[in-house]
Amino acid sequence: MSIETTLILFKPDAVEKNLIGEALRRFEEGGNTVRGIKMMQLSPEILAEHYAHITDRPFYPRLIQFMTSTPVIALALEGENVISVVREKLGATDSPNADDGTIRKEYGLNSMFNICHASDSPETAEVELKRFFKPEELFSFQAEDYLK
Ligand code: ADP
Repeated sequence: MSIETTLILFKPDAVEKNLIGEALRRFEEGGNTVRGIKMMQLSPEILAEHYAHITDRPFYPRLIQFMTSTPVIALALEGENVISVVREKLGATDSPNADDGTIRKEYGLNSMFNICHASDSPETAEVELKRFFKPEELFSFQAEDYLK
């Protein structure tokens, strides 16, 4: 068990369908703690970095159109093994083929409109947290015992 932080983006379909609360409730479940959260309008430039591994795919222009169509919510979430835990809660990329009970299975439409992005490894999480958050936008704190 290790304490990790992951980067989650609530994509424009989550914003448009008012699914932020429901998805965040599921992500927090099990004791994961929000360390940073903000709404932001993504640019094609930041998305070109974020999706560098798929810029040559035929669906890339449509993906950029989708991801810039509304602001998104960026979230830094901390917890035990939270990177893989969140990926499991989210489900496979192609929503209809995601496992039952996952967010994408329940709310996603297809391979593109799939509600959230979540980091897939400790290495990508580190890079992605830096990409979407300034150091002062991430909060490290210890709650008082009476709040636990
Ligand atoms: P994931 O988001 O599950 O880590 P990828 O990194 O492979 O998946 O893809 C990034 C995003 O690109 C996906 O979440 C989805 O929005 C979009 N995408 C991936 N594959 C396809 C596809 N075959 N058709 C349309 N959009 C896709």
